[in-house]
Amino acid sequence: MREIWVLRLGHRPARDKRVTTHVALAARAFGAKGILVTTKDPELERTVRGVVGRFGGDFEIRTGVEKWKEFMRQFDGEVVHLTMYGIHVDDAISRMSSEKVLVVVGADKVPPEAYQLATFNVAVGNQPHSEVAALAVFLDRLAGGGGLRKEFRGRVRILPCERGKRVEDDSE
Ligand code: SAM
Repeated sequence: MREIWVLRLGHRPARDKRVTTHVALAARAFGAKGILVTTKDPELERTVRGVVGRFGGDFEIRTGVEKWKEFMRQFDGEVVHLTMYGIHVDDAISRMSSEKVLVVVGADKVPPEAYQLATFNVAVGNQPHSEVAALAVFLDRLAGGGGLRKEFRGRVRILPCERGKRVEDDSE
């Protein structure tokens, strides 16, 4: 199974709080190992670690990664920058071979260096939409759909059911 990291560029704590939280939670749910966020945001870290504490897994979050260009340059795997200007997601995935992948998503306007440092600039359709949607579709296709079968073994576990809610909570 591939080791996947997500890098969130240009997070503005006041404005992007919910969307960046959703980027992190989608990354976790679709099987990524962790997320790096360029701006320091202790509240975002607390929120995401709270979900990991309850729902399990070993997802990591680090904020304040200001030297993101260096991080992209030195990453020892393939770097995928999600952008509506890129190549078709399926064409990119068929060319990918590394077991380690860094997926870069923007918030505000993405600096040109991100396009240059990426191994692949990848579009999930060439229309503007959302970093959460783009990340989810990309990770799902990369894992061939299998990422959603991952077991998290958390304190809180949801038991799939046809109707209603079935939840096991070890702390109750
Ligand atoms: N206006 C910004 C710009 O021009 O760079 C982008 C704003 S967009 C809401 C935020 C992020 O969503 C982008 O940086 C990109 O990572 C992702 N995104 C939006 N649409 C996408 C698409 N069609 N394919 C891939 N990624 C997309």
